[in-house]
Amino acid sequence: MQVFINNKEFSTKSGQTIYQVARENNIYIPALCYHDKVGVAGKCRACVVEIDGVQGLETSCQVTVREGMKISTKTEKVLKAQKLVIDLMLSSGNHDCLSCIQNGDCELQDAAYYLGIERPSLKYADIKENIDDSSEFITVDRNKCISCGRCIAACNNTVTNDVLDFKYRGAAAEISFDTDILMADSNCVQCGECSQICPVGAITDKRTKGLARSWEVDKIESICPYCGVGCKIAIHVDRKKNKIVKIEGIEGAPTNDGMLCVKGRYGFDFVAHEERLTSPLIKDKNGKFQEASWEDAISLVTSKLTEIKNKYGADKIMALASAKVTNEENYTFQKLIRTAVGTNNIDHCARL
Ligand code: SF4
Ligand code: SF4
Ligand code: SF4
Repeated sequence: MQVFINNKEFSTKSGQTIYQVARENNIYIPALCYHDKVGVAGKCRACVVEIDGVQGLETSCQVTVREGMKISTKTEKVLKAQKLVIDLMLSSGNHDCLSCIQNGDCELQDAAYYLGIERPSLKYADIKENIDDSSEFITVDRNKCISCGRCIAACNNTVTNDVLDFKYRGAAAEISFDTDILMADSNCVQCGECSQICPVGAITDKRTKGLARSWEVDKIESICPYCGVGCKIAIHVDRKKNKIVKIEGIEGAPTNDGMLCVKGRYGFDFVAHEERLTSPLIKDKNGKFQEASWEDAISLVTSKLTEIKNKYGADKIMALASAKVTNEENYTFQKLIRTAVGTNNIDHCARL
């Protein structure tokens, strides 16, 4: 069907919301509670638009398009309403963008920039620190929370861990873990889904704080090195230091749709760990490991395997492949064991 947004005609599929059609066509509408994965929430009211023939404003994430619909996203009335919503969100929290880990990658900041809000017009005098830093990998700063509910929907419906909810109601409402206990004491498994889906800096990855800013990293697509599920990840690498600062799941990936487990999201220290082996080691006559060249290591392994094969037969050799290397490397390894060594004794550590 055809619809009109800001007097321009667009083709759409039936069943799409106004917000989805606008986004597909690069028309920005601030939307802080909507996320493809958790669906329509209709909470934040930032995505309002005007529709010809409809009184008042409509939330674009909740209204599906109809043939010939005429939508305006930038009228004075729309922008005034959006500005009020964003202004109130900024006013009711402690938004110290300069030192916020989310600076440059914050949907509230984007909305404020789009609407030209330079500083919140209201000031809440008594905002007290409200940080839960108890857990291993995640920091929760409730003063930056805009009560969008994305994390709650994600924890309960997407990763189905059922840990998060809102406590209290009205202006006092805030996110809580289980029966309003510390994150570290709750049933949270530190999967980090809430951190990834939070549109602002309210739930963030603890160990990324103080490292590279969002615009200083390259996001390199890869596959999680841990298990056979093969979740798709984006590795955030500080391009000056060539160091991993953060890992995110890739939204829409068929294996994991952005979700990761605690290992895949936070277990990346081994990559640059000082104790990581960077060259082969061969035991000397006294049984002590000594650094060796790859050539020496490979020829030692080859001669030992050949010796065993000649003496006892290839089936006395077995090989264990690793989940920490790529599918292609595992394929090559099983090929080597089956064809060059000549045994089917090959298994993989992800089948524990
Ligand atoms: S959450 Fe966003 S708006 Fe708030 S301080 Fe951080 S960057 Fe600024
Ligand atoms: S880290 Fe995972 S389990 Fe813990 S609160 Fe967030 S979404 Fe729920
Ligand atoms: S913590 Fe983040 S995702 Fe959760 S309600 Fe607050 S702003 Fe939304």
